[in-house]
Amino acid sequence: KEPTDINALADEYLRLAYHGFRAKDNAFNTTLKTDFDETILLISIIPQDIGRVVLNLLNNAFYAVHQKVLLGSGYEPIVTLSTKKLGDNVLIRVQDNGSGIPKRVLDKIFQPFFTTKPTGQGTGLGLSLSYDIVTKGHGGTLQVESAEGDGSTFVVKL
Ligand code: ADP
Ligand code: MG
Repeated sequence: KEPTDINALADEYLRLAYHGFRAKDNAFNTTLKTDFDETILLISIIPQDIGRVVLNLLNNAFYAVHQKVLLGSGYEPIVTLSTKKLGDNVLIRVQDNGSGIPKRVLDKIFQPFFTTKPTGQGTGLGLSLSYDIVTKGHGGTLQVESAEGDGSTFVVKL
């Protein structure tokens, strides 16, 4: 672990994720919103690992809004990345207004190899790996709130 500027790290991986989707799809025009809490000081983490978590969550969020774009018009895809200091903890929140997660699926998303994506588009490992990095690797929590059709919010608490 090393003292890390979590806002800079989050911003770096946001660019990485966004440009990854942009490269695959020129029409990808998701609105990005960020809200970084500038009062957060350096926090002790494994930067590559937490970066991987942020990237996984953002990739899922971009995929989810893209799914909804395919459904029809009059929809503005938005992905929001924010950080917040809460007492001794730091929260990283990834929110999308995409497809959302049905209740029956929600119980399974942290299981290794669980995916609802077509073959070749998902390994089902992103969230299980992220869960282990956050909980076992950093003693934190990873929680989700989602409503089918409305979108999802994932919160990493460190
Ligand atoms: P993968 O992305 O390879 O499918 P993940 O472990 O990252 O694997 O996610 C598992 C499943 O959880 C996804 O296939 C999808 O059904 C669901 N999921 C994860 N994040 C989101 C999201 N932001 N919106 C909708 N569904 C999601
Ligand atoms: Mg994924």
